[in-house]
Amino acid sequence: MPSPRRFDLIVVGAGPAGSAAAATAARAGLSVALVDKCDFPRHKLCGGGFTGRAMKAFRAAFAQDAPEAPYLTATSVSFGAFGREIGRYDDVPPIHMAMRQTLDAALFKAATDAGAAPFTGTAPRDIDVSEPALTLGDLRLSATVMIGADGVSSGVARALYGRPFHPKQIGFALEAEFPPSTAPDAPTEASDPVVRIDFGAADWGYGWVFPKTCGTTVGVGGVHTRNPDMKAQMTRYLDGSGHPRDVRIKGQYLPFGAPRRVPGRNRVLLAGDAAGLVDPITGEGIAYALISGRIAAEAATAALRAGAPDTALARYRKGLRPTYRAIGHARLIRPLLFQPRLRDGFIASFQRSETLKHDYLRMLAGETEYADISRKLVARLPRHFWRAITLSRSERPDIAPPLP
Ligand SMILES: Cc1cc2nc3c(=O)[nH]c(=O)nc-3n(C[C@H](O)[C@H](O)[C@H](O)COP(=O)(O)OP(=O)(O)OC[C@H]3O[C@@H](n4cnc5c(N)ncnc54)[C@H](O)[C@@H]3O)c2cc1C
Repeated sequence: MPSPRRFDLIVVGAGPAGSAAAATAARAGLSVALVDKCDFPRHKLCGGGFTGRAMKAFRAAFAQDAPEAPYLTATSVSFGAFGREIGRYDDVPPIHMAMRQTLDAALFKAATDAGAAPFTGTAPRDIDVSEPALTLGDLRLSATVMIGADGVSSGVARALYGRPFHPKQIGFALEAEFPPSTAPDAPTEASDPVVRIDFGAADWGYGWVFPKTCGTTVGVGGVHTRNPDMKAQMTRYLDGSGHPRDVRIKGQYLPFGAPRRVPGRNRVLLAGDAAGLVDPITGEGIAYALISGRIAAEAATAALRAGAPDTALARYRKGLRPTYRAIGHARLIRPLLFQPRLRDGFIASFQRSETLKHDYLRMLAGETEYADISRKLVARLPRHFWRAITLSRSERPDIAPPLP
């Protein structure tokens, strides 16, 4: 019989979403169990692009200036789209390139420093979303509220809905790491680091070359159903970007712009990838994980203080409205970039317009939102673009019904 331990809040998963949730709740005075199946530091497949938006979200969740992780900061970005050069932009708002192993270990430490009790290295079993509770070895943890921040294959989402994601709405990404000696684009003391993004390197997706302190990360990702042979896309991208093919390639699902319509049930909330909160155009997920983790913890705290834990979900949904709005606007813009008959016109407009480019880079920095960009696009693009988006749903990969 497992021995019982009781908390105000159990957070399952200690990535950016879970650590942000645990730190926020512990600082607010809740007793928090922070559970992860892995011990830290642990590997997480990710480009590690930590934007200005993520930095802002980090400060809000952890009440600290910046995570204690080494990153390389780039202020130059170069874009390609469907084999064409779009251009290089210097002096852009900084993008910090982190290794997730060290970044996540720093976030986890910040959460435990804030007072969350760590339970790592054992996968939870018997997740009960009604109590809520879970078993860890010979311990039975229960709480008044639970936050599922356990990533794209979330066990908490599975316990709630029977499966963690809809197979038609998921993305998939492949990635490889190159030490400086084998990366042709590794930054040197004489050169500024440049972030490279290639839209269309995968169908309804993109490729990236991110310089790091210890080499370069190269990857491709896109809508899974549209890329049955992602390995071939990766090989093409490696060849095209001058990286050797004989490298270890790893893959992972990415909830690419398919947020759950309702992220949880009553006193069980889902945050980050578990709720499908990833930018559908750039694949950025760290910022939304930090934002949603913090908001989930604030909702849990308010519900507990009101003596009404079942209101946690309603409070959370209210707090998440701007995030859903941002992802919704990005989903609206996405066909302009990826639908074959629209993209040439869109890319030409993007290339011509300094304002659009500037706004897009400010959006990555968290200084503006997709809503502002789509408002400007409405004014700028011919009406037939918008009609085509709303009428032609047949080419869209995201037509599966929204997740419950
Ligand atoms: C190849 C690739 C490249 C990417 N590049 C970028 C990028 O450059 N920038 C960016 O912003 N985003 C990027 N993303 C997206 C980003 O990685 C995720 O959106 C982000 O990690 C989500 O954070 P999270 O805390 O929700 O989940 P995760 O970071 O996945 O953390 C989940 C945690 O839960 C734990 N866990 C899992 N299952 C269980 C379980 N059953 N019980 C207990 N614990 C469990 C895991 O060990 C992990 O620590 C990329 C994703 C991929 C796949």
